[in-house]
Amino acid sequence: MGTHDQASRTLATDPAGWRFDNSYARLPEVFFSRLRPVPVREPRMVLLNRPLAEFLGLNGEILSVQDGAAVFSGNRLPVGAEPIAQAYGGHQFGYFTMLGDGRAILLGEQITPRGERFDIQFKGSGQTPYSRRGDGRAALGPMLREYIISEAMHALGVPTTRALAVVTTGEPVVRETELAGAILTRVASSHIRVGTFEYLAARDAAEHVRTLAAYTLRRHYPELEPSDNPPLALLRAVMERQAALVAKWMLVGFVHGVMNTDNMALSGETIDYGPCAFMDAYDPATVFSSIDQQGRYAYGNQSRIAQWNLARFAETLAPVLDESREKAVDLANEVLESFPDVYRDHWLTGMRAKLGMITSEEDDAALVQDLLTHMHRNRLDYTNTLRDLAADHPERLPLFQDQAFAEWLKRWQARLKRQPESSGAMPSVRERMRAANPAVIPRNHRVEEALKAAVDHGDLRVTHRLLDVLAQPYAEPIDSDYRLPPPPSAGAYKTFCGT
Ligand code: AMP
Ligand code: MG
Repeated sequence: MGTHDQASRTLATDPAGWRFDNSYARLPEVFFSRLRPVPVREPRMVLLNRPLAEFLGLNGEILSVQDGAAVFSGNRLPVGAEPIAQAYGGHQFGYFTMLGDGRAILLGEQITPRGERFDIQFKGSGQTPYSRRGDGRAALGPMLREYIISEAMHALGVPTTRALAVVTTGEPVVRETELAGAILTRVASSHIRVGTFEYLAARDAAEHVRTLAAYTLRRHYPELEPSDNPPLALLRAVMERQAALVAKWMLVGFVHGVMNTDNMALSGETIDYGPCAFMDAYDPATVFSSIDQQGRYAYGNQSRIAQWNLARFAETLAPVLDESREKAVDLANEVLESFPDVYRDHWLTGMRAKLGMITSEEDDAALVQDLLTHMHRNRLDYTNTLRDLAADHPERLPLFQDQAFAEWLKRWQARLKRQPESSGAMPSVRERMRAANPAVIPRNHRVEEALKAAVDHGDLRVTHRLLDVLAQPYAEPIDSDYRLPPPPSAGAYKTFCGT
């Protein structure tokens, strides 16, 4: 048989477009366990992300009609998948534990038509050697929630894992009550975490740390491979991406909620949508997670926690940074100590854009801070206040009837007048501001409403409408109710880890 026949047969056996190359499964066996997803009773397709499928080179038509339910439940493995559960550890609320994919299975790495590599991972696909006491399963509500919020983050322009599909399993999962079981298919640049390094370091395996550092560089930072000290270049690059990422979270009012080191991806993507939520009224102390009693992962703490997590990452790298322990620590500290400034630069640049500033002035940070202080004192909605500033006549907003705030408005308007504003090609200040301040975020009451309809009544229409609006967060929604903060009757919002 000639090569042509060979090629056409490959195409014929895989009309859905799967094209796997599983580099992680070629790493040393300590990094993972090989296993197959546990088959489920009666899989049903709930959501398929067509644009994402297309981006990945998959045929959405075939996946939704013919074999989506079988494939996205794990009942039928796509051609070329080499399923594994990944090993990792992590500091959870400050304490180290050995963890691993307890309810997730990596099918493999899909190579897109553009030649990019993405992990295809099931979440909720049954027990693994790392399940500890867990059942390896997930419920429909939390998987839909991850789908909605991660796709909203993507549309907001925040680096994130994405959601390709949700299926129900036809099997109940037992939590406080019996719930419908579901599996989410997550797409990520990779699932390498700070915790992956911690797992190897805890086993005192410097050789494996070196291997993983080289693998991570090749996969995410190939331009740094020729560096004099590749692990140090990796540390610096990861620090920079985390600084940029957390700044973006802060700029859109996102509270991750469970920034354990196992939930920090070295790709710089947001990962693990458990107890996350968006802040309504501006308050740095905002916490949604029911288990975060101390506010460790509060909105205003996120940059400090990122730096703490990076310190844990640096510790795992220390043995491969330099032969001398002392020198290794110095090298790591120099990178870690630069984090606050790198973070602040990203954040201030983003805040300037939100306020329509295209130049820098000494007093900009103070001007921004005074706005935030005013929001905080008056419990103003973070998203809407900023979006309102982009209105044609902000001085007419009820906001500015307050004397202190009217003075701030004057300062801000004077500041804008001091920058060059060419009349022609450049978009106006208002337009620029609207492109930097979302009109719509996944408001908690809206997300809950969608989940309730889907879970209690099998009605996906509310979810689809919400997904449509969230896909264009910087456009004015046709139904302006999507901009409203929750009614006071909604009370304080609480989230739970996504089990
Ligand atoms: P998370 O809070 O989602 O970051 O999860 C922390 C750890 O708990 C990870 O190792 C998960 O795989 C594991 N885990 C969470 N839920 C389950 C479950 N239902 N069954 C088994 N392991 C779980
Ligand atoms: Mg996790």
